Amino acid sequence: MKNGVVIVGSGHAGVQAAASLREEGYDGPVILLGDEKELPYHKPPLSKTFIKDAAAQPQPLRGEVFYTGHTIDFRPGTLVERIDAAARRLDLAGGGDLAYDHLILATGSRPRVLPLPGADLTGVLSLRSVADARLIREQSGACEEVVVIGGGFIGLEIAATLAAGGRKVTVIEALDRLLGRAVAPLIAEHVRQRLTASGVRILLKTTIERIEGEAGHVSGVLTSSGEHLPAKMVITGIGVVPNVELAETAGLTVANGIRVDTAMRSSVPEILAIGDNASYRHWQTGGDVRLESVQNATDQAKLAARTIVGHPGDYAAVPWFWSDIGDMKLQMVGLTAGSDRQILSGDPAENRFSVFHFAGDRLTAIESVNRPADHMLGRKMLGLGFSPTPEQVAGGAEALKAALAALPAG
Ligand code: FAD
Repeated sequence: MKNGVVIVGSGHAGVQAAASLREEGYDGPVILLGDEKELPYHKPPLSKTFIKDAAAQPQPLRGEVFYTGHTIDFRPGTLVERIDAAARRLDLAGGGDLAYDHLILATGSRPRVLPLPGADLTGVLSLRSVADARLIREQSGACEEVVVIGGGFIGLEIAATLAAGGRKVTVIEALDRLLGRAVAPLIAEHVRQRLTASGVRILLKTTIERIEGEAGHVSGVLTSSGEHLPAKMVITGIGVVPNVELAETAGLTVANGIRVDTAMRSSVPEILAIGDNASYRHWQTGGDVRLESVQNATDQAKLAARTIVGHPGDYAAVPWFWSDIGDMKLQMVGLTAGSDRQILSGDPAENRFSVFHFAGDRLTAIESVNRPADHMLGRKMLGLGFSPTPEQVAGGAEALKAALAALPAG
């Protein structure tokens, strides 16, 4: 009797791994463990719509019948505490253990905690799970003023969403620009201008001295410039840390995530890691990366399933990501590391443009604002290893489509 595959974590990566195992013809037991009590759900809508819409429900990744229909033993509310890699066993919180032939760690990541006085006051929140989103939605109703700490994707999505819902929102960012180094400066500045025009106050080059409270609840923040900002809710969005503690109990190699090879195997080959918690050598840049995106979680899960059924491939998916910030759909494809040249296509004044990144003549990435066609063509071009000329970029989507159509078959 096979012990089968145990998957720890029932988020985007874990659920896809279970589905892909069945698609690949794996017929042994598949046990999917998740510490959350919910039916696994899509995370991206949480910061974009869920927190402002009182009637919104979590959107399930798969219907309940999917798990029973594919003989996937889904066990919600199950926290895994320890792995004994030598015995191929894991311990569950509250007692009990489980044996496995293969183990997939899809434990994701969690919000980085702000190391500041006052960070433990009630009303200081972060957003990762639907439980977090419910808290923000419930408590923001009674808040006129909200402070968001961190000008990254999630912080800005939350800021735009709460501002659209009538809250007075201030974003505090330590760097001199938004979105860290995740996008071109032109795009970061465009986002800043549009958010500001929509009523969000943005303070760059500003840090927090302390979070202030009254009777245990947050009442505001004191900034490094000495300004006191009243707020009954403070949301921190200062990045995430990978959930690697379980991997450490198994003695796996961990370095900014669980180290995996190109087939998603950890330093103990029958234990695989996928999604936000996995770090690996990237095929495009040659550098070590740990990506936090639905695409990465999904594609790595598919590959892990193939590895388990004996057809390992090499992870070489083109990375892509999206973010909806107010009236801006940002879409990124490729990685900008190593790029030395940018070409702008379209007009920021129309809130529709793309920045094409190149290393020499080689296309490395495209970042788009409200230009989905550029993004989709970018996925094709990067997948094929095709780099457009500056003239083709200037010609817009039609010229790029024509250039792709003119490529020799195969
Ligand atoms: P998760 O989806 O986080 O799943 C991990 C699961 O494992 C969690 O349920 C966790 O509770 C569980 N777990 C952890 N430890 C244990 C344990 N010991 N025992 C049992 N269970 C455990 N990406 C995009 O591409 N575009 C977007 O627009 C976008 N928006 C986002 C908005 C928000 C608010 C958030 C939070 C994320 C967003 N992301 C977006 C990122 C994307 O959701 C993540 O990259 C993706 O969820 C990663 O999938 P994962 O399965 O690795 O981790």
